[in-house]
Formats: sequence, structure tokens, C-alpha cells
Amino acid sequence: MPAAGIWRLTGDCKRRNLDRVPLLRTRKTNMDQPHPHTHSQLDPMEVRVRALESLLTQKGYVDPAALDAIIETYETRIGPHNGAAVVARAWVNPEFRAWLLADATAAIGSMGFGGRQGEHMVAVPNSEQVHNMVVCTLCSCYPWPILGLPPVWYKSAPYRAKAVQDPRGVLRDFGVDLPGTTTLRVWDSTAEVRYLVLPRMPAAAKGLDEHDLARLVTRDSMIGTGLALEPGTAMPPP
Ligand code: FE
Repeated sequence: MPAAGIWRLTGDCKRRNLDRVPLLRTRKTNMDQPHPHTHSQLDPMEVRVRALESLLTQKGYVDPAALDAIIETYETRIGPHNGAAVVARAWVNPEFRAWLLADATAAIGSMGFGGRQGEHMVAVPNSEQVHNMVVCTLCSCYPWPILGLPPVWYKSAPYRAKAVQDPRGVLRDFGVDLPGTTTLRVWDSTAEVRYLVLPRMPAAAKGLDEHDLARLVTRDSMIGTGLALEPGTAMPPP
């Protein structure tokens, strides 16, 4: 029986609803008695996060409804689909593309995407000659409004180091092999400036509308660790 004051973690619930069942407030145990026993399917970090959230909630420091609203926002409203819409529009609309490259914050804002971690955006276009890649060497700065929350690997020390030392090797790690004649540029995100890579539109995608083009734009292609998908290719899992 877990210690009193911690909340039970059940294995059959999803995400945040699972930690709303308080434990019995007792330290008495009797393992000989039959008892309901559900195993957590959470990894150790998730268990620690949820235990911390439960304690902060119990002490009145955080409002669970506010946390739920934030998570729901990042699960449904904010994510790479926003960035994909921006890229698709730039692919079909030369004026928007020019605006995006001149003032990414304003162009992206015109589509309703902005706010925290997206206050100062810069778009860097890929071409046959130049491929751009984004990293935050210091921590994990990332354009939340258009890409959502950063993937784990983006925050990892190996990526942050290797992206600078061996960007071509990073691309190979991601299954991308560019011609040796392509120049690689690595952009270091900071608290002040966040970057959006504008990937190249696949030649075979010519003629598709914005909606269908957006389906070819992966999160990784907007970080620069991937390329846009060829039409007919299934979107990889996040
Ligand atoms: Fe950072």
C-alpha cells in the first residue's frame, strides 16, 4: 500500500484522469487480504510527475482544471498541424511566402498562431543548395504555437551537441541523406528567437491544394531533421 498522502495510480485510465482517486489515508497494510490491484502502466518519470501534481493540488498550489485546460490546449489546438498549415500556404502563395520570410511572426500571426514561445519567429527556407536545421544548444527553446511541445530527442544532450558538431550525421540518424553539395545551416534557438524551417515542396505535390499539401509537412521537416513527405506517404507517428 503506498504511503498516505499519495494518490493511487491506476493502469486502465488515460492521462490525467487516472490520478484523481485518493488513496486510503492509512499506513496499515494486510497483504494477505484479497484486494483490488491495478498496475500502473506509467513510466517512472510519469509517476513522479503525477505524484508531484497531486501533492501540489492537495496543497492548493495548482488548480487541476487549469492544468487540464493547458494540456487539452496542447493536445488539440496547438501542434505541428499549425506549422504545417503555414508551410502549405507558403508553398501555394508566393506573396505569403515572401511575407513569411520577411516577417515570420506577423505572417504566422495572420493565421491565428502566436503567443508564448512564438513571439519572435524567423522562417528559414530550404532549397536545393541549402538545408536548415534547428537546435537549442542551451536547453529546449522551441516554437510552441506552431509545433506544439518539443519531442524528447530535441531536448536531449546528444541531439543538442551533435546538431552543431555533425549535422549531416544527425540527418543520417533521421534517415535523411542529402547530396554533399547541399550546404547545411544550423540555427540555435534562443529565448528571443525561434525558427521555422520551410521545407521544400516535393515536386510530385504540385497541383495539390493547401489542405492536402499540409498533410505532407511533418514536424521533423519543420525542425530540419526530416523532409516533407512524398504524396501518398503515410504521416509517421510523432
Ligand atoms: Fe532553450
